[in-house]
Amino acid sequence: MIQLVRGFKDILPPETAVWRHVENTAREHFEKFGFREMRPPVLEQTALFQRSIGEHTDIVEKEMYTFAGSRDTMLTLRPEATASVVRAYIQHKLYAADPVCKFYTIGPMFRRERPQKGRYRQFHQINAEVFGIDSPYIDVQLIFMLMTYFSRLSVTGLSVHLNSLGCPECRPAYRQKLSEMLSDRTGDLCEDCVRRLEKNPLRVLDCKKEPCRNAVSDAPSMLDFLCGDCRSHFRAVQAALDAIDIPYEIDPRLVRGLDYYTRTAFEIQTEELGAQNAVAGGGRYDNLVEMLGGPSQPAIGFAIGADRLVELVETKIPAPEPGPVIFLAPMGEAAMELAAKWACLLSDAGVRTEADFSGRSLKALMRRADRLGAENVLIVGDREIEQNEAILRNMKTRDQKSLPMDRLVESVLEHEG
Ligand SMILES: [Zn+2]
Ligand SMILES: [Zn+2]
Repeated sequence: MIQLVRGFKDILPPETAVWRHVENTAREHFEKFGFREMRPPVLEQTALFQRSIGEHTDIVEKEMYTFAGSRDTMLTLRPEATASVVRAYIQHKLYAADPVCKFYTIGPMFRRERPQKGRYRQFHQINAEVFGIDSPYIDVQLIFMLMTYFSRLSVTGLSVHLNSLGCPECRPAYRQKLSEMLSDRTGDLCEDCVRRLEKNPLRVLDCKKEPCRNAVSDAPSMLDFLCGDCRSHFRAVQAALDAIDIPYEIDPRLVRGLDYYTRTAFEIQTEELGAQNAVAGGGRYDNLVEMLGGPSQPAIGFAIGADRLVELVETKIPAPEPGPVIFLAPMGEAAMELAAKWACLLSDAGVRTEADFSGRSLKALMRRADRLGAENVLIVGDREIEQNEAILRNMKTRDQKSLPMDRLVESVLEHEG
């Protein structure tokens, strides 16, 4: 038997109902904040991710699903969404009419990570991106939108973690300082961090391994290196969060995995899922649009880990699995022919209908109707056909009534109406 690919996952009912709830709530909520849905493809040229995410990141170095396309072009299954949205913003000149654009996108991402519990190689994100505004107020609006989205889903116990990553003016000095400090401690760092140290020392701050965490415990903070503009931006973000009553923690260790972030970086963390505790994260990427060949437009966005969010929501709202409103229990060939037609017409008229064509005993059919959680069972056999009446039984109250067979569909619709 051919099995599912390792590290991938089937999303089955009833869990799909939770997914739809999570996704539809996002659509509804984000659109009230002026966001519109974009659906970029899952396949892009590899160069897009190399240039945006950065060559020296774990994602680009070892986690992408890359293969040869036609004419020497390398193609990659997207490991994240922002690069594609930025590419589309530039390629279709979406900035031309008004540079301020707000998009959200929902879909699968692919990373060849080591398979582990709760982590999949195809995972799902809900992303939102805002282009054309560098004001700190949009940073705060985005965080507000996220937090109110989570409370709509009844997800609680969340905290906002906030940092500033500076800009190309002020970050190099910090990077230099951090790099100097860490080169004296390479003996304490894990293999990955020794490698990161050369190309991207900020990533060492992000390492979850104990020795690395200890080695950076007294590292300098980016916040002490911010230039004047970055400092006032960060202050304004905090003041606006205070004004709108969103508590937050300043977390100088929060660097996010990707190279393109500038200034505000944030994560929404939960304590409910153990060690992997960020349920959403994002930040500014003021230089990415220009870096990818577009006009100079500031931008900010976030990604929600939908797989984790579904886990959180599932524990709050057990997925409701509605049974059929009406279960057709035909007995005998003539009754089955009638039931087949009624089942089609009732479903088409909007009534959740299940018909059983197994030809088993009425007792067996009633057991199945019960197991499916059917509200009503419609019983029809040779005797009913003779009397031109089918029997509708309410499964809860056990009440029965007769419905005229020649206007059966209409009668059921009136009954359910
Ligand atoms: Zn700066
Ligand atoms: Zn490390």
